[in-house]
Amino acid sequence: MGVQSVVIVGAGPRGTSVMERLLAHHAAQQDSAARKELRIHLVDPFPPGAGHVWRTEQSRLYLMNTQSFFPTLIPDQGVGAPPLAGCSFNEWRAAQRATPWAGLSDGDKHELAGLGPSNFPSRALYGRYLSWCFEQLTQTLPDGVSLTIHPTEAKRVAKDHENGGFVVGLQHGEKLHADQVVLALGHVDSKLSPAQRELREEARSHGLSYFPPAVPNDVNWELLPAGETVLVRGMGLNFFDVLGQLTEGRGGIFEPTGLPAGEALRYVPSGREPVIVGASRRGTPYRAKAEMDSYYPASVTLRFLGEDAVAAIRAMGATAGFDHDIWPLLHRDTLWAYYTTLALAAPTWSHRSCCRSWMHCFMKGSTAERRLGQRGSRNCWLAMCARTRFWIWKGWRGLWRGTRCVPVRGIVLPRMPIWTRLFWSIWPPMPPGPRWVRMTP
Ligand SMILES: Cc1cc2nc3c(=O)[nH]c(=O)nc-3n(C[C@H](O)[C@H](O)[C@H](O)COP(=O)(O)OP(=O)(O)OC[C@H]3O[C@@H](n4cnc5c(N)ncnc54)[C@H](O)[C@@H]3O)c2cc1C
Repeated sequence: MGVQSVVIVGAGPRGTSVMERLLAHHAAQQDSAARKELRIHLVDPFPPGAGHVWRTEQSRLYLMNTQSFFPTLIPDQGVGAPPLAGCSFNEWRAAQRATPWAGLSDGDKHELAGLGPSNFPSRALYGRYLSWCFEQLTQTLPDGVSLTIHPTEAKRVAKDHENGGFVVGLQHGEKLHADQVVLALGHVDSKLSPAQRELREEARSHGLSYFPPAVPNDVNWELLPAGETVLVRGMGLNFFDVLGQLTEGRGGIFEPTGLPAGEALRYVPSGREPVIVGASRRGTPYRAKAEMDSYYPASVTLRFLGEDAVAAIRAMGATAGFDHDIWPLLHRDTLWAYYTTLALAAPTWSHRSCCRSWMHCFMKGSTAERRLGQRGSRNCWLAMCARTRFWIWKGWRGLWRGTRCVPVRGIVLPRMPIWTRLFWSIWPPMPPGPRWVRMTP
């Protein structure tokens, strides 16, 4: 029997997924004579499964922006080799309420008691699920498989010119030989940009603190003094983490008021909070992610990128290009869903002049839209984005009245077409609803 050795660097969700697939495929191999012994080496300074991002001891104020029903480490469809162990997060969540795993903390149990399929779990709890999956997988190693965990960093990967394959150098000098190496490193630390370095130097020269971009759980928030002004640059997901740590994390309480949405909570400060000032290129925080029971609303029908279109793309026989084949259809579906919803929710908005003629054509699904082409659609989208931005900013200014607000910088033109960037930057990384409502008291 030959030996195949695989080194997986990074034991977060992706590295663990790779391990899960290797085990499943090994077990599924029918011809045991041809089956090689499989040696897996997992390298990560953080505990396998949860890895760096999903550490189980982190504050429960850090929420996932994915609802319970959605994430899974273990594939539930579309794979040849059936999984050997584990389940989706949602299945695990339900099972833990009935039969708690010995590895759950009191905090996990408390959170699980109130967590439904469409709620947003804490990152700590998702990390617990990942740790559980990892444990289940290690308990079902197929014959002929060994697993070695190296709780350290990989420093170097080089070709092994003598023996073939690769050599992976670990932090304390150990070397691993590998036939294959998988790099599942996640977000790696980046060097500060010149602008960030300048900010850091300016801060230093004024005796102030500058915190570089980081995983929020790596930051010591206690270093920010109560009562002092803190400027938060960027109002994306991490902004909501910062708000959580500097308000509830400092002993503040959000009390229900009994009033409707938008005024449903009142903040009772602890007196230990700093003064938080938010700023971003767009000038608006990300809007809250909708709480739904499926990944997209059941009311959305894909008219353009439907089954027929996908079959037609497949039948082309060539690899589909996102820009040419997928995006134009997806774009139409997005606009269709957006404007039909807008027409229902705010009819006067949908009659704004910027969109009227295009909308007329679009709603009719006529060839006129094709004549306007992608440009027409993009202009419309951009106009809508610009208006939305202005509108939210106006409301937002009112929200921050009483604190000092920082002027908003213009949108920086990226290398990607701006329309794509706007689209992706507005919609996918939305914060969970419970975080958003805590901004509005
Ligand atoms: C703060 C934060 C919140 C997020 N929230 C969500 C969310 O709510 N929903 C969602 O779907 N996604 C979220 N993400 C995205 C998240 O990165 C992915 O969901 C997922 O963690 C990616 O898995 P990964 O294994 O590729 O990377 P990671 O989870 O980052 O794991 C990579 C692992 O590689 C290890 N590693 C890196 N370099 C080395 C090295 N040289 N040697 C050894 N080990 C190394 C790290 O220690 C780490 O454990 C979030 C990301 C961050 C940073």
